[in-house]
Amino acid sequence: MRDWLAHRVAASPDDEALVRAEDGEAWTYTDLDRLVSETAGRLVAHGVEAGDRLGVLTPPYVGTVGLVHAAMRIGATFVPLGQELTPRELSERIERADLSAVVCAEPTEDDALAAVDGIDDTPLFSVDDPADATVTAVHDVEPASVEPPEWEFDDHLCILFTSGTTGTPKPVPLTAGNVYSSAVASAFRLGVDPGDRWLVSLALHHMGGLAPVYRSALYGTTLVLREGFDAGGTADDIDAYDVTGVSLVPTMLKRMLDSRGTLSDTLRVVLLGGAPAPDELLERCRDYSIPVYPTYGMTESASQIATATPRQTRGRLGTVGRPLFGTDVTVVDEDGAAVEAGETGEIVVDGPTVTPGYLERPPAPDEDESAAELDRSAFGPHGLHTGDVGRIDEDGYLYVLNRLDDRIITGGQNVEPGEVADVLGRFPAVEAVTVVGLDDETWGERVAALLAVEDGDEPLDEAALDSFARERLSGFKIPKTVAVVDELPRTVSGTVDRAAAREMLRERGH
Ligand code: ATP
Ligand code: MG
Repeated sequence: MRDWLAHRVAASPDDEALVRAEDGEAWTYTDLDRLVSETAGRLVAHGVEAGDRLGVLTPPYVGTVGLVHAAMRIGATFVPLGQELTPRELSERIERADLSAVVCAEPTEDDALAAVDGIDDTPLFSVDDPADATVTAVHDVEPASVEPPEWEFDDHLCILFTSGTTGTPKPVPLTAGNVYSSAVASAFRLGVDPGDRWLVSLALHHMGGLAPVYRSALYGTTLVLREGFDAGGTADDIDAYDVTGVSLVPTMLKRMLDSRGTLSDTLRVVLLGGAPAPDELLERCRDYSIPVYPTYGMTESASQIATATPRQTRGRLGTVGRPLFGTDVTVVDEDGAAVEAGETGEIVVDGPTVTPGYLERPPAPDEDESAAELDRSAFGPHGLHTGDVGRIDEDGYLYVLNRLDDRIITGGQNVEPGEVADVLGRFPAVEAVTVVGLDDETWGERVAALLAVEDGDEPLDEAALDSFARERLSGFKIPKTVAVVDELPRTVSGTVDRAAAREMLRERGH
């Protein structure tokens, strides 16, 4: 197949491709296509070619969306690099992904320069006027003509790094087939149509931000591009540009609702991903008729694995819905065998959206070719082991509990902290809760719960909480240590800081 923008411009040349939220400037598909062929032509004139891996370290410019499509037009693999990375982290990624060239911009030039310093032969291009003589301006040359390549489904369209929650971020190649299947399956679940206007304020170097860019070219929707998130500004843009769809992480939606109360009624889809959506947030959405779609996804599956619709969310609080069309989800026990419906185990995923394997460092000149193979050690007979724990109910709805790493083993029995936290979170007055394991001489680990209580409430009745939990959970799952705080400790991205919670429980728990 040809690149997707080429198909799109042939089908709907005059439709709006892109609106820049800062000033309202708009690009039709013809305009975007012109920008992309020019950028692709100049990169080719500078020596970038099909099969290259193109690193991109630019702010969420219109030009960055152009680079996503320009890489595809050249036949190169798009490798976005996060602006928040240090030069040292950047150079590790440049080496690990064996990048052929890196494109930066004026705001990222210094970091990019420091990152390639000492790495042989990684040319650096800037989409702006470079300040340093060793950086080449992309616009320095006349565009060369670009021979549009044929993309096969197995070709690597992009390489993304995981978030690094459980260790060093892993480079994940996603094929054209992976991204295509993911776009089609998610569009099918969400009912995406060409009249949609999708606001992107998530980073373009994770699938949450990048998937809508690819999907938009496939479906002919309009992207509203915003440089970064802020609660009030994003809500304003939704109003100003009649936005119909937006992807957010749950804490972003919470901040928007805290600042606005509700959101524009032009919104048809509010997609939540990346972390569990708290019940309390989902209940607020129900009260304000906000069309919320909680999803479960990961980099390795080119974003969503399962997505719940607003109706499903109302009926089954906490579910992430059924797997997307074409995706198989199996819950397995420690031996890798599928468990019965309703039972808890590791979530394993298979299907056309799943990466062929993690990228390994290419072989050194004196090394055997096989050293360049993809790492498939996380794959088993049912597919990719996600490292997440969950269950599927009788009707096929998936619930995600916690990471496998967070599982507590107490007296030889497994406790999923997510299950215990779900129960404790339903006790009146408990606003938020996190459950962790603490080292214990007798039990190996003991279950411990840190609870945040709603403002102005009576002190928590711990005896009542204990009997509430005992009615719903087996004895070995009941926390042996509890502590009550005003607020749970959180990381910068808004997720609960489990290490800090463990520390607070060690100090204050009883
Ligand atoms: P690393 O793989 O490097 O440890 P990461 O897993 O955080 O990092 P991502 O691919 O960005 O990197 O995130 C995917 C993970 O996010 C999932 O495996 C899961 O743990 C978590 N996640 C995503 N959606 C949900 C959800 N709805 N509920 C709970 N967890 C979720
Ligand atoms: Mg992961």
